[in-house]
Amino acid sequence: MERGLDMNNKLAIDGGERVRKEPFASWPIYGDLELQLLKEVLESGKWGGAGGAGKPNYSPKLPEMERKFAELQGSRYAVSVVNGTVAITVALQAAGLKPGDEVIVPPYTFIATASAALAYGIIPVFADIEEDTLLIDPERIEPLITPKTKAIIAVHIAGAPANVTRLKEIATKHGLALIEDAAQAVGATWEGQGVGAIGDAGTFSLQSSKNLNAGEGGILTTNSAELWENAWSICNVGRVPNGGWYQHDRFGQNYRMTEFQAAVVLAQMTRLEEQMRTREKNASLLNGLLSRIPGLRLLKQDARITRHAYHLYMFKLDSAFAEQADKNEFIRRVNAEGIPLAAGYIPLNRNISILEMTEMWTGQKREYDCPVCERLCAKEALWLGQNVLLSDEKAMHDVAEAIEKVVRSF
Ligand SMILES: *Cc1c(COP(=O)(O)O)cnc(C)c1O
Repeated sequence: MERGLDMNNKLAIDGGERVRKEPFASWPIYGDLELQLLKEVLESGKWGGAGGAGKPNYSPKLPEMERKFAELQGSRYAVSVVNGTVAITVALQAAGLKPGDEVIVPPYTFIATASAALAYGIIPVFADIEEDTLLIDPERIEPLITPKTKAIIAVHIAGAPANVTRLKEIATKHGLALIEDAAQAVGATWEGQGVGAIGDAGTFSLQSSKNLNAGEGGILTTNSAELWENAWSICNVGRVPNGGWYQHDRFGQNYRMTEFQAAVVLAQMTRLEEQMRTREKNASLLNGLLSRIPGLRLLKQDARITRHAYHLYMFKLDSAFAEQADKNEFIRRVNAEGIPLAAGYIPLNRNISILEMTEMWTGQKREYDCPVCERLCAKEALWLGQNVLLSDEKAMHDVAEAIEKVVRSF
C-alpha cells in the first residue's frame, strides 16, 4: 500500500507532521531532600565506611538505607554493593557456587546476568524464554541440569516477576540455589511477596537508568543469615561481622558503596511509591490503548504478579504482522513520530563475549539455541524506556496514536 495518501496522516519519516512534539518525563527526579542528605554526609566527615553504630568506621546512612531497602522488599537482610552486576557475582559466591559450576539463566536480559557469573568462572547455561511474557520458561530448565548445575537466576525483566513459584519448585527438587536478578524490579511483588525475598538471594541495581537511582550502586537481599554473612564478608575484603579490622577469614574484595550514594537512595526512596503509581496508571492506560491496535500483541501478565514494577514497557508485534512489517523499519517510523520506541536486547546466548569467556573457562566451544528469544528479538519485541511511563496521560495517547499511524502504513 502506498504511504501517506491522506495529508493529515502522512508519516513524519516522509515529511508529515510528528505526532509527539514535546519531550517525555525528564529523569532523574530530585529535590531539596537529596541536597539536604548529601550535605549531611559531606559535613559528617563520614563519606564511606563499613559496619554499624559504635564501630570505628561507623557510617550512618548505609545501614539505614540497607534496613529500609530490606523493609521495602520484605527481606530479612540487605547488603549494599558497588553495582547490580557485582551484586549478582556476590550472590552466586555467597550461595556457595565455585568456578566451574553452572548456572541457568535466560537469554533475554542485560548482559550482566551472564557476565557476572563468568567474572567468577561460573558458566551461564541459557534456558529459552516464554513466548508471551519474555521471562525465563521454567519448563525448559530441567533438561539443562547437569551435575555441575548449582543455581538458577530468575530475571524479573522490565519489572515483571518471573514464575518464582515454579522456579523454586525446580530449584528445591534439584538442590539448586535460586537467585533473583531484580535489577529492574524494585517494588515488584509475586503473590504479595517482594521480589528478592523469595529466592535464596535477590540482586538490585541503583544505576542511573533504574527506578531507584544513585548514579551507581547495587543491593543484595536475602532471608538467610548465613548467606547474608557470606555476602557481607565478600563485599568487605573478607572481614567477618564483629571480627577484627585486619581479620580476613574469607576471600573478599572491597565492593562497598559510599555514604553519598546511600544518601541519594534514601531520598529517592521517598519518591518511589508515587512514581510506581504513575507507572502503573500509565501502563494500564497504554495496555488499553495498544490492545485496540491491530498488529500488536501485549505481553501476558501472570495473575500471581501482585505488583509489576514497570521499569520498562514491553510489547510485541504479532507474529503475522511481523512477517509483513520489518521490526527495524517499524521502529524508525515510530521514532520519527517523536516516540522513543526501542528494539531491546540482542539474544545473550549468541553474544560473542559470553561465548568466548565460556570457552576460556571450560576449554569447550558451546552453542545454545533459544529459538523463541531469537525470533522475538529479531522480529517482534519492542520497548518503551523507563521515563516514558513517568510522563502524563496525554503522552500515552500520543504513543498509541503514533504507533497506530505507523501500523496502518504497512
Ligand atoms: C541494570 C541491570 C543489571 C546490572 O546492574 P548495574 O548496576 O548496571 O551493574 C543486571 N541485570 C539486569 C537485568 C539489569 O537490568
